[in-house]
Amino acid sequence: MTLDLMTASESITDCDSYSFDEPLTEASHAAESSNRPTSNSRRPVDKSAIEAAVRVILEAVGENAARDGLLDTPARVARMYEEMFSGLHLDPARHLETTFPEDYDEIVLVRDIPFTSMCEHHLLPFTGVAHVGYLPNGRVVGLSKLARVVEEVARRPQVQERMTQTVADMLEDKLGTKGAAVVIESEHSCMALRGVRKSGTLTVTSSLRGIFRTSPASRAEILSLINRR
Ligand SMILES: [Zn+2]
Repeated sequence: MTLDLMTASESITDCDSYSFDEPLTEASHAAESSNRPTSNSRRPVDKSAIEAAVRVILEAVGENAARDGLLDTPARVARMYEEMFSGLHLDPARHLETTFPEDYDEIVLVRDIPFTSMCEHHLLPFTGVAHVGYLPNGRVVGLSKLARVVEEVARRPQVQERMTQTVADMLEDKLGTKGAAVVIESEHSCMALRGVRKSGTLTVTSSLRGIFRTSPASRAEILSLINRR
């Protein structure tokens, strides 16, 4: 595939703004407020409240929440949400605290980090891969830490644009990189299952920082490494 060079803030993936008669390219999206953890969101997940809410939804759609097949569903959904949203109670940037001095001054890129996140507009999953790269500024971080950051940022109610920017922000802030590049490709089930019902579409967002934004040569280099198949 070929990546375009839009940054996340310029991209157009707001699944909620699509409709049947609207060209996909006309959808607009403004990145919404950060969902970094707040003191309020640090309280543990209230699973019994989720269970009660799921029972209400089941009854509201015309089901009998008390029938055999649905008896355990509220508890299952509560456990699933606890897992899917576990990143709300974590600070993913902590994985970037431990760095190592290193003279290496070329690109570090971890490609194809798989993730599943939850679209905050429909509470339906979007799944795909993230490519996370940076140009060190005297210090490097363990490669697996980049995957951990992606994993935890994904485990929140998300929009792909903000997820992309959040990971890039953390790289810049915590590593003091000369450049950071995050590209995320994913399929949104809210686009596949409802609304325009276009399965197989891939949404690509990118956030390029520092030298990857200012130097065309550096930008071309990292994007060619990301695109290499
Ligand atoms: Zn959605």
